[in-house]
Amino acid sequence: MNVLIVDKCKFARSITRAKFSEVFKGLDVVFENAENSKSAISSLDNTQTIGCSRINLLIIDLSIMLDDKFTLINYMVGVKDYFKPVIIIGLADNCLFEFVSNNALELNLNLADIIKTPLKHADIYNIVTNKKCKLSSNKPSDNIGFIFGATCIKEDFNKKNLCLYYQPKVDIKTKKVVGFEVLSRIKTNNNTIYPDEFIPLLEKEKQSYKLTKFVFKKALNHWESIPSLKDYNLSINISADDLRREGFVEEIINHYGKHRDIDMTFELTEYAPIENEFLTFESINKIIASGIRFSLDDFGKSYSNLKRLDSIPFDEIKIDKAFVFDIDVNRQHQAIVEAIIELGSKLNIKVTAEGVETHLVLDMLYKMNCQYVQGYYYSRPLSASELLPWIENYNKKFQ
Ligand code: C2E
Ligand code: CA
Ligand code: CA
Repeated sequence: MNVLIVDKCKFARSITRAKFSEVFKGLDVVFENAENSKSAISSLDNTQTIGCSRINLLIIDLSIMLDDKFTLINYMVGVKDYFKPVIIIGLADNCLFEFVSNNALELNLNLADIIKTPLKHADIYNIVTNKKCKLSSNKPSDNIGFIFGATCIKEDFNKKNLCLYYQPKVDIKTKKVVGFEVLSRIKTNNNTIYPDEFIPLLEKEKQSYKLTKFVFKKALNHWESIPSLKDYNLSINISADDLRREGFVEEIINHYGKHRDIDMTFELTEYAPIENEFLTFESINKIIASGIRFSLDDFGKSYSNLKRLDSIPFDEIKIDKAFVFDIDVNRQHQAIVEAIIELGSKLNIKVTAEGVETHLVLDMLYKMNCQYVQGYYYSRPLSASELLPWIENYNKKFQ
């Protein structure tokens, strides 16, 4: 975890660092310094990558904010950096603290807390362990607890705190459940960490292939242990990076060799241009030859999708939920979804729309000749123990 301390006084920075180090003891934390808003912005600017910044926590001295006329905060708002937790420290009366706090919250920043100096161990501990109530919105990712979660991901991952959830996919015409997509969560004592938080970190550390292998084996075991589940396709998310890992493809093919009667799909997601395309396409073709299908996930989100459609024999296109959930009120999204369904039909590739939340949207997709749907309208992702009761209940209700 990288922590940026913004304070003009070198001595104060070292005190802050020492106090936070006590609380982060045993964790892999790197502290960085900035003496004013400008140098803090340049640190943040250098570290922004898609969906993930190298700096995980900002600690800002109150006087910097006031002296620099909220330059740093304005920058964060400008680049829509609403998720990075911010802790403000300083010496001021309650009125000033309230003013700053209200401003930060109005700007939608993820303000974890404001702590008065001199810093007390207990105050810092309360924030980072999330014992103090959150001041931000109620989205799980806005929660300062994720600082700990992020840092402990590798540990949790090794402890097998990773839980698999399953979201059903339904044939729009027959209303039959045709399969389930596996979605991962990390469960800590009293917290759930969602993939949007831990996958960018795993990808940054080039560790996502470990997640894929773990999910793949665990889900296949689950399918194997309950014979009735074999009636359903099992879809697992994969990133193009995993496919370039030495030995990865061979391990997947070998393992799948023991479970050939399970209908399996890999959903390929990738926003960035694929590095070493030849190697990636070769890996995909080997996996397809072993009997596993490939689906092009999040279609429409990335400009490079179309090129991939031309090079890889995909079995399915999944339209991203961002285009689907509001087609009843958004004409542009309606046109995009319609065009993707038509493209799938012309290329003879199945089309699944994800993010179906209402009957109205489902009805429109039906009229557009979309084949498969997935979304909260049918079910949220289900834990392993909820799966069979849900199927039974669904079959009673919809069939
Ligand atoms: P995705 O593959 O596009 O998965 C769909 C996401 O949309 C899931 O979020 C799901 O819970 C959510 N969703 C499903 N239906 C609806 C709906 O009707 N409305 C709304 N608002 N959301 C809906 P989740 O589980 O948080 O996963 C986020 C992303 O993380 C996934 O997006 C996928 O790209 C990635 N992911 C999840 N699990 C894994 C995994 O095991 N391995 C890899 N490599 N990626 C994963
Ligand atoms: Ca997916
Ligand atoms: Ca998606």
